[in-house]
Amino acid sequence: MDDCEKLAGLLFSDLTVSPDELEQKYPPRNLPDGARVSRFAPSPTGFMHMGNIFSAFISKLNADITGGVFYLRIEDTDKKREVENGIESILDGLFAFGIVPDEGVVGQNEEKGGYGPYRQSHRKEIYRCFAKELVKKGFAYPCFCTEDDLAGMRKAQDDESTTTKGYFGKWAVCRSLTFDEQRSRILSGAPFVLRLRSDGDENKKITVRDLIKGKIEMPENIQDIVLLKSDGIPTYHFAHAVDDHLMRTTHVVRGDEWIASLPVHIQLFSLLGFKPPKYVHISPIMKIDNGNKRKLSKRKDPELAVSFYREQGYPTESVLEYLMTLANSNFEDWRRANPAEPLSRFPFSINKMSPSGAVFDIAKMNDISKNIISKMGADEIFEKVSVWAREFDPELYMLLSDNPKYAKSIFSIDRGGTNPRKDISKWSDVRGYVEYFYPALYKSGKRPPESITAADARAILSKYLEVYGADDEKDVWFSKIKGLCEPLGFTPNVKEFKKNPSAFKGHVGDVSAVIRMAVTSRANTPDLHAVMALLGEREVKARINGAIDDYTLGQHCAMSG
Ligand code: GLU
Repeated sequence: MDDCEKLAGLLFSDLTVSPDELEQKYPPRNLPDGARVSRFAPSPTGFMHMGNIFSAFISKLNADITGGVFYLRIEDTDKKREVENGIESILDGLFAFGIVPDEGVVGQNEEKGGYGPYRQSHRKEIYRCFAKELVKKGFAYPCFCTEDDLAGMRKAQDDESTTTKGYFGKWAVCRSLTFDEQRSRILSGAPFVLRLRSDGDENKKITVRDLIKGKIEMPENIQDIVLLKSDGIPTYHFAHAVDDHLMRTTHVVRGDEWIASLPVHIQLFSLLGFKPPKYVHISPIMKIDNGNKRKLSKRKDPELAVSFYREQGYPTESVLEYLMTLANSNFEDWRRANPAEPLSRFPFSINKMSPSGAVFDIAKMNDISKNIISKMGADEIFEKVSVWAREFDPELYMLLSDNPKYAKSIFSIDRGGTNPRKDISKWSDVRGYVEYFYPALYKSGKRPPESITAADARAILSKYLEVYGADDEKDVWFSKIKGLCEPLGFTPNVKEFKKNPSAFKGHVGDVSAVIRMAVTSRANTPDLHAVMALLGEREVKARINGAIDDYTLGQHCAMSG
């Protein structure tokens, strides 16, 4: 038995499983040709942001589009950074956007699939098994350096101004310990980490063909990186190689901050005898700020937080539709050609993703969402707003649930035709959209339209009260408004007005604008006839009388001022 084998035996004497057994336990997946296996592998550190959601979304699409598997692995090897309910918030974040894993961690204490466990903290024996293999082959060794030793090494490297820093080559002092030295330190109980014995050459390069970034060339890794920490827990690098191999991942979709680690990863796959996966490195989501492109920031951009979308009440489908525009720039053309198709029919392609980072634009997201909401029926809107308002706007929730029929009638106005209104981009817009329908929410704030004097507005409203009929059908209602025009110096005919504007005080549009303002305090509303019918006679008359009073008062003030 050579020293490496003796060392492996000494370090892992209690190990009961072999790499062969693991290879058999987790065989290559039985999937059709071309089916991709990709994963989302977050750490439960608490802050799920849109960058994570975007990565998970892309990873899922990558699997779905090929009839493959998308799974969730929890990378909980850093206990210091872990937060309580970390897994729950990851799952909540994913589920909120309809990103449901086919396999892996699917609940706080629930897993699905034959390639688990899917929480790294439950895979200690698996990592030890492969660590033992590396020790046996001479590619790993115990390092007994203390924090002080490492600080001393860093200082010496600074003093010598070495171009490369770190634990490598001659600096890697524990590399050259003899087996007897190793054994006596281990038996004396000295703490140690397990390090890679790097076989890299910094003058040689690794080449990776990233599916988004293209060809990546980087110098080989020469650092003796840590594989297992002193408590036997693996580092990210080692766990990545072991897990993505045994879980038979074909595509590693992750943030591009991991590109720097590629030389280590490629080396580990090679030393472990594993076939490396394909890499898909996603650029961070960017934002244009004062003409400059920058990363979305946790501090400055509320839209980075997953919670923002829930609190604001964006429908899931709006966010996903928007994320798809960020993912593939040809999506919008496809959508125009296929307005009614579900999102899942879009032929997503990883190769069409931007290597430089998609730019997030909340205004565009709002437009997309308005469009999606404009196609929803009144009942659907009622249900969705109610679910949202119950949590985030209890007052609105009470009003809606007090009289669902009334609420649904509000949402029905101008809905369902070929050109539905696009007023609502998120459920938090609904309060503003409906408030004038509810005396409890209504804030009166009327002023006559700019081109109309207070006296003319008053005259229009007084005359209108004389003819107003609460039960009038729309054509009767409109002909009454037209009928007000001429006696008051307006014209019912917009064309005529345009031909000779100085001959009139305004046209029928101005007259109805005065009525609209008096009844709703808005310059813009859905179909006014429908609005007034819903408000009912008493409310309409009270508001018109209120406006007449307000405008009278306004004129007094103007005259005395
Ligand atoms: N646990 C790593 C992270 O949260 C995952 C990187 C990867 O997907 O491989 O950043």
